[in-house]
Amino acid sequence: MSHWQKMISYLRKNGELIILVHEKPDGDCLGSALALGLHLQAAGYRPTLFLPEPVPLTYDFLPGQELIKALEKGEQLPEAQLIVAVDCADQSRILYSFPEQASAQTPVFNIDHHCSNTLFGDCNIVDPNAAATGEMIFHLLKESGIPISPAVATCLYVAIIADTGSFTYSNTSAETFHIAAELLELGSDMNLIRHNLYDRRPVLELINIKLTLSKLQFTEDHRVVWSALSHEELASHNLLHTDTDSVLNLMRSVEGVEAAIIFRELEPGVIKISFRSQNQLDVNCIACEFGGGGHARAAGCTLNGDLSTTIARVINRTQEQLQKILTKGGD
Ligand code: 5GP
Ligand code: MN
Repeated sequence: MSHWQKMISYLRKNGELIILVHEKPDGDCLGSALALGLHLQAAGYRPTLFLPEPVPLTYDFLPGQELIKALEKGEQLPEAQLIVAVDCADQSRILYSFPEQASAQTPVFNIDHHCSNTLFGDCNIVDPNAAATGEMIFHLLKESGIPISPAVATCLYVAIIADTGSFTYSNTSAETFHIAAELLELGSDMNLIRHNLYDRRPVLELINIKLTLSKLQFTEDHRVVWSALSHEELASHNLLHTDTDSVLNLMRSVEGVEAAIIFRELEPGVIKISFRSQNQLDVNCIACEFGGGGHARAAGCTLNGDLSTTIARVINRTQEQLQKILTKGGD
């Protein structure tokens, strides 16, 4: 039985299902969720995507927004025949608790590509080799035999470019390009994507880059670079919800840098940490040690505590791990 068949075997005709994303959903997460929702709708089902926060402005152009319903964080989810979690490495990143009877009556499908995935679903479709969850959703939808619409192709194309850094990260494979080519043939709207992702960047992103770069720090050997912004700094510049991907990539791209880290105190004493590595350090392992997760080259975690103490802990651990690799490699 294909994954698609298994999924719809839980749904009756016109059946309602819930699609869930992780907190602060990115392009892969939202693109995948909306593509899945639109395709299931075309197949005759009634999907709803619950979101506790507004759709990030960067992705408000994605087709399928009508499937999104606002629901406060922590609220009870309505009854449904199926729950599908998309791009979620672990259940704690989903801001709703599943209905009491979740595993008994409402099966949970977990579709994801993080190597740190905790297999929290009743059915776990997890492929760490996929560059994006969008690639996995593409395969899933093809199994349905129902044509993939241009709107779905647009969502999936955005999902893939979000997680591959527009086909530049090391997770980009020949398969990624095959899928992208097919999505183009299926009518993904490249003008819409280009305009919204590349010609409409929020001014706040630029201000965030400026502030983050103004606080750069390096270890003595310049292999680790980091920047930290306190709650006060983030709040006073209205940067609490700003994406840091671009500046983090910039920091990682510097010659000799192996790890780039950003510390953002999102609430007083609550620090969100984002890791990126160049080609050796497994930052997923480091993030996991601190209760987070992600991928080998991009991971994250959230720690409670004082900003400078947290920075010292994380930078020390990163240097230790890096030293281990360098010693092993005989560098
Ligand atoms: P970012 O730094 O862009 O927030 O996240 C990079 C990667 O790490 C993403 O794949 C994201 O899902 C994952 N990630 C970020 N923060 C956390 C976290 O707190 N827990 C887990 N499990 N994964 C995270
Ligand atoms: Mn992803």
